[in-house]
Amino acid sequence: MAAKTAAARPAAASEPGRDCPLCPRLVEFREEWRANEPGWHNAPVPAFGPVDAPLLIVGLAPGLRGANRTGRPFTGDYAGDLLYATLIEYGFARGPYAAHPEDGLALTGARIVNAVRCVPPQNKPTPEEIRTCRPFLSAAMAEMPALRAIVTLGKIAHDSTLAALGQKASRLKFGHGVSDEVGSVRLFASYHCSRYNTNTGVLTPEMFRSVFSAVRASLG
Ligand code: SF4
Repeated sequence: MAAKTAAARPAAASEPGRDCPLCPRLVEFREEWRANEPGWHNAPVPAFGPVDAPLLIVGLAPGLRGANRTGRPFTGDYAGDLLYATLIEYGFARGPYAAHPEDGLALTGARIVNAVRCVPPQNKPTPEEIRTCRPFLSAAMAEMPALRAIVTLGKIAHDSTLAALGQKASRLKFGHGVSDEVGSVRLFASYHCSRYNTNTGVLTPEMFRSVFSAVRASLG
């Protein structure tokens, strides 16, 4: 059972402190952007959505001018436009999405978290940073009593989620649309909804919708 798997590990708070010191390179980058843009969030981005949701969506890391600026996952950059439109379409969010945390958007039966909570340079966390931040991902899963489905956005989020569930990456090899039961949760993998992936045609809105259509069918 996913929650039990994660809960069996040493207890960890699901939200890192604003000045979490664990990844020196990311701390340095964070400090640089605090100086550059004092009005931005520039801190670990907390999970968004109700803790009793049956669905968890796991992204990679905050975008520099997206979640790192606004403080809400996938808010303020292109990836959020596609993600939130799709969540609204499949009943996992309601209200207007206007790319800022006070837009009134609410998640309904879904929660979003990033595998790495701090913005990495060039959007690329190192394997060590991914590992170091994983206890926060495990804790976020463990505190969701009704968790039944997880959507992983991209290979890094997928593999880190499997690791947080106590599984090897080979348990469910990443690919767009792959899905399987892992313990008591069903994992659904999707290419990341980044601007790069959609601009290059790696991910079309239809392909993205098909994942959430399958999630909706699974959850009812
Ligand atoms: S990425 Fe995670 S573990 Fe690393 S400094 Fe940020 S919050 Fe801490």
